[in-house]
Amino acid sequence: MNCRTLRWFVVVLLAFCCTGATLQPVPSAQAVDTTSWFRLLSVDKSLAISLNGARLSLRGMRIGETVLVPFSVLHQAWGAVYAVSPAGSALTIGSRHAVWKGMSPTYRQGLLDFSWGVAPVLSGGQLYVPLRELMEPMGAFVGKRTSTDDIFVAYSTQWQKEPWLRQGQLAQLETVDLTHTNLKRVTTTRKVVAFTFDDNWDAVAAVRIAELFREYNGHCTFFVVGTNVRSHPEAVRTMARLGHDIGNHTLSHPAATAITDDTFVKQIQACEQVLNGMGLTSRPYFRFPYFADDSHLMGIVSDQGYLTVGSAWTIEDTGPNRSAGLSVATVRRFISPGVIFVGHANSMATYGAMKAVLPELAAQGYSFVSLSELLRGR
Ligand SMILES: [Zn+2]
Repeated sequence: MNCRTLRWFVVVLLAFCCTGATLQPVPSAQAVDTTSWFRLLSVDKSLAISLNGARLSLRGMRIGETVLVPFSVLHQAWGAVYAVSPAGSALTIGSRHAVWKGMSPTYRQGLLDFSWGVAPVLSGGQLYVPLRELMEPMGAFVGKRTSTDDIFVAYSTQWQKEPWLRQGQLAQLETVDLTHTNLKRVTTTRKVVAFTFDDNWDAVAAVRIAELFREYNGHCTFFVVGTNVRSHPEAVRTMARLGHDIGNHTLSHPAATAITDDTFVKQIQACEQVLNGMGLTSRPYFRFPYFADDSHLMGIVSDQGYLTVGSAWTIEDTGPNRSAGLSVATVRRFISPGVIFVGHANSMATYGAMKAVLPELAAQGYSFVSLSELLRGR
């Protein structure tokens, strides 16, 4: 063995000794780096774990009230890395670290101590980590779905750099009633109106609409087509940054009644994945292209975890007779508290109609709300 080889041998030996107790991260099946992607992890009452709606083979563990999940699930979801050294254990997600010693009931993140509830557990070659207790201080949105008692964690490491990507609509994942289909209005006496804009073919018009609503301290909702998100990611980022809701309008806008169920599911999932790649989500809102729906298709939407959003009125900004004047007249005629209007972010004419009608509605005392604000009664 020459001198150089010996040096490497010593280095490797030292490294092996220092990391003898390290659990190796489980490699992700994905070839691309998905660590900044939005991921929705849920654990149901039977401790089955799902990632973005797909059931995983590993299960969670419950100790008292605390739900723990295998570390490898956190690796798969958010690229979490775990390491043990004589100084203690460290779990890293993006640029944040949780550090703890042995069976300590607390862990340290930055300068703060947080309680695990129960300490991490080694079982069957897996490290189990308390889910809510770890992920909430990491900045994740952690909730419990009222209808099913599922615990869910929504997170993207991209949020660490751009906190505004953490959308307000995530709170609706807890309360959305998936048995309620085709939401068209809510019953309220308060003067609120939810304008929604579909398709997003014209990114310039979409951004102008998004900015216009903020001039009235209001919000709206955009049902985006996945291919248009791919073409104009900055427009969609602007919508989210300004606090508007983003809904799912399929990947490429087919009529759901004209395609197979399998293709329809893929269309919903593909639109979601495009947004997830930006750290965003369209959950829990879905709208059918052309309103081409039926009760069977709405059942599929529910199974995918979305609420079908209809519309009480369209603002007549599509079709041969469209004009800004007709849109304004339609809104004037059908405005009432709690109504959902549908328009299209496809041309500046729609922006022009909104610019004309919003001052009138504001003068009447209306405020402009996103679907989430409408549902939670802002
Ligand atoms: Zn559409």
